This record gives sequence, C-alpha cells and structure tokens, in this order.
Amino acid sequence: MKPIQLGDMRVHKVHEMDSPVPLLGQLPGTTSDDLVRLMRWYDQPDEITADPEASFMTFSVHSWVIEIGGMTILIDTCCGNHKDRLLPEVHQLDTNYLGNLRAAGFAPEDIDMVMCTHLHFDHVGWNTKLENGKWVPTFPKARYLFSRRDFEYFKNDPAGEELHNQAFIDSIVPVMEKGQGEIVDEDITVLREIGDGVWLEPAYGHSPGCCTVNAQAGGPPGMFWGDVIHHPVQLIRHDLPFAFDADGATACKVRKTTMDKVADTDTLCFPAHFRRSSAGHVKRDGDAFRYEFLGSGD
Ligand SMILES: [Zn+2]
Repeated sequence: MKPIQLGDMRVHKVHEMDSPVPLLGQLPGTTSDDLVRLMRWYDQPDEITADPEASFMTFSVHSWVIEIGGMTILIDTCCGNHKDRLLPEVHQLDTNYLGNLRAAGFAPEDIDMVMCTHLHFDHVGWNTKLENGKWVPTFPKARYLFSRRDFEYFKNDPAGEELHNQAFIDSIVPVMEKGQGEIVDEDITVLREIGDGVWLEPAYGHSPGCCTVNAQAGGPPGMFWGDVIHHPVQLIRHDLPFAFDADGATACKVRKTTMDKVADTDTLCFPAHFRRSSAGHVKRDGDAFRYEFLGSGD
C-alpha cells in the first residue's frame, strides 16, 4: 500500500496477517439487520453475508509507521514470531512482518519510538524477537512507551488474562530489562504539542489503559484507534461489545464518544484491525455511522 501523506506527516501500513474467525464468537450481538445495513457500504462477500451465523470477522493485524518531525514512530507491533501462545491461531507464528517493514522502507534500527495503544498480545508481539534463545528488543534504537494503567494491570499476572500475560513476559519485560521501556500516562504529549505533534488520549474499556495515538503536522489530524473498534459493523452498532473487552459497557461509550468526535471531520482514522486500506473517514449515517475507506488498499 502506498504511504498516506497528511500535511508534513507520512503514514505507512505494515501488514502482518489476516485472521478470519466466526463473527458471532467476537461480536455476539450482531443481527442480520446490522449486516444488511453494513453491506450497503462494506462489500466483503468472503467475510460478511446477511446471516450472522455464516459470517466471519477477518482481523487484519498490522502496524502503522508514521514519519513526523524527523522521527519514525511505530504504532502497535502485531503478534510477533516464534512466540508460545494459548491461542492456536497465533501460536509460533512465522510471518514476513520484518520483510514487510523493509518493503515499506524501514529497517528495525530506523525506528525511533514504539508506541503500543494497549498491552494485548496482538499489539506488542514484535516489540521483541528471539535471538540466541533470548527475547531481545527488535528495534535496537527505539524508546518504547507503555501506558501506566495497562502496565500496572498486566504486571500482576491477572487471572483470566493468560494470553496477554504470556505477551507481557516475552514482549514487555525484556524491553524494560534492556532499559528501552518507559511507562507513561495515557494523556502524554510525545512530540511538540497537542494539535501539532503526537499525543495520547485515554480510551479505556477494551483494556484498563488503552488509548488512542493522535498525530498532526500541518495537515489533517490522524487518529490511531487501537482497539476502540474492531470491525466496521460497530460503526452501525457502536453499542456492540467485543467479546474480549475488559469492560464492554465502557468500551461502547468510548467508541461512541470517539465516533462523535471524528464524524464528518477531516480526521483520518487508522483502526488496528480493519481490512483493505484500513484508513478512512467516519461519516454520520442517521442514528449511526459509516466508514469511507481511503482508496482500495491492499
Ligand atoms: Zn487488537
């Protein structure tokens, strides 16, 4: 996919994998009416039909790289290779993610900063790579920023979060031990100032400390959503919780607030799991929203 230019900021998508899973396992409240409405603007016949039982949710797992103010920032680092995971679909992966990063124009040593919207396994995996039997930071020159609330939560090995606890041990702890990790508040400004730089905004619900990454440089703003939303059907049903939200009710409220904020504006949105170009604009559509994907994507 071609990079996206937003004023003086350039955004690249780096794909790791697509993972199709039955829709109702992820978004159990989805109805046939929702899907019929979705199909008016989201045409993915291999994924969505009018029958929720027969429909899939295909997670695109990808990172975003932004070039802004002389910095190269990697947002969310996907699942990673060679990691033991309780979820069979992502256990011991061997993808070409680093090749895709190079194809986008970046070597690991080019990354100045890694930002994780939250500390779930599919957003932190490439923080580390296996080298001589040890997990070491993949990006040797990068500062890695982790949100305080998620860090405090996952460091205590919480019950019921075993999959993410695995990721904490092999993808967060080695970065901290190497001195490259930094625990930050969820409203920190990372570069320059709000409105002209890079800053975080809290978006709690899907995880205790998840946030959006916001960036702007002399053009339209970009909002990197993390998992504020998982699938386009949640623009129609913003009240539809994702089965693996830590706090589904709060996540739904945050989704609605986020959509209200960006709808019918020039903010370009960058969800963590939409397919195609993934990037797009939110439009109001009666009592709901719809999404205009940017270009055809890959
Ligand atoms: Zn995710």
